[in-house]
Amino acid sequence: MTRDAVLGARRIVVKVGSSSVSGANVGQIDPLVDALVATYQRGVEVVLVSSGAIASAIASLNLDGRPQDLATQQAAAAVGQNVLMWRYQTSLDRYGILAGQVLLTAGDLENPTHRSNAQRAMERLLDLRILPIVNENDTVATQEIRFGDNDRLAALVAELIGADLLVLLSDIDALYTRPPGEPGARPIPYVPFDDDLSGVELGDIGAAGVGTGGAGTKIAAAKHAAATGTPVLLTSTANVALALAGGETGTWFQAQSQAIAE
Ligand code: GLU
Repeated sequence: MTRDAVLGARRIVVKVGSSSVSGANVGQIDPLVDALVATYQRGVEVVLVSSGAIASAIASLNLDGRPQDLATQQAAAAVGQNVLMWRYQTSLDRYGILAGQVLLTAGDLENPTHRSNAQRAMERLLDLRILPIVNENDTVATQEIRFGDNDRLAALVAELIGADLLVLLSDIDALYTRPPGEPGARPIPYVPFDDDLSGVELGDIGAAGVGTGGAGTKIAAAKHAAATGTPVLLTSTANVALALAGGETGTWFQAQSQAIAE
């Protein structure tokens, strides 16, 4: 039932993490863009929030892996943001669609002047049928570098533009009752608005990878979006086309204003 709401959404924010669009998974950019464009071509306004700047610089800077110190992380983000946007634009060129780069911080969205500037720019980009691609502005903020919190930024962007749906993509296809892979872990298809998820066991976020988020930041972001009226679908990058076509996948977080009887 809930997944039908995907096809009714007029404005959708999709968030993807570093590990889904860099390194061995760089080939996931084209299918991700295909799914975003299929939605865009239905007349939907689509915004992508993408991490992956630091991870996209690892090869160009001949680094062995994700840099450890903050200054090198910021330098890598400055280099890799460019690489990442080039990859998205090259992929979007197949459809003649333009990307617009928007670098923001959570703090920008709390400052009334910055917030209204960001809102005006986003509205205009969407009017112009440009696909805005948002990332944290890592030169002036390190929230995501430190806490893996582009999930939160995505929820704040969804709130800023009054999105009808936030799709949080990760390597895992749903929220599970305990870390997937552990015996007895079951996917949770639906989270009612008043569910505090107290029975869910969260695992280690996998600090060895290029990404920094995990189920914890996704739940916190989903709760924020749901409380501000945007339902959230949490699923895997591999399932994005299915998710955006209204297919039965992932975990749906009911938003506050939605009827309980869905
Ligand atoms: N916003 C940064 C990026 O896109 C940080 C992500 C991270 O900490 O890996 O790369």
